[in-house]
Amino acid sequence: MAIPLQQHIVYGPVRSRRLGRSLGVNVLPMGLKVCNMNCAYCQYGWTGGSRTPAGRAKPWPTPASVNSAVTARLRRAARDGELLDRLTVAGHGSVLSLVEK
Ligand code: SF4
Repeated sequence: MAIPLQQHIVYGPVRSRRLGRSLGVNVLPMGLKVCNMNCAYCQYGWTGGSRTPAGRAKPWPTPASVNSAVTARLRRAARDGELLDRLTVAGHGSVLSLVEK
């Protein structure tokens, strides 16, 4: 069963056996899986929406908005004494899919 797509730039922290408490950074459009693959085991389900006109029209986070969201979240973690082990730039898809011919 697919998990819901991210609706924010920063999410988590996600607990990972390999990475510890990992704060996710989604640099892809909110609520849209962007990938040029269609792996059967993908936790975000089947690819498709990013190739539609509506999907292509979805805005991508700007570097400034990513910076602002990550900075605010890290400040909140520091203020609250929250321990984070990693920042993981990921999201729902593969950034390699940015290149389409
Ligand atoms: S996001 Fe990853 S697992 Fe999912 S279809 Fe793309 S490459 Fe496969």
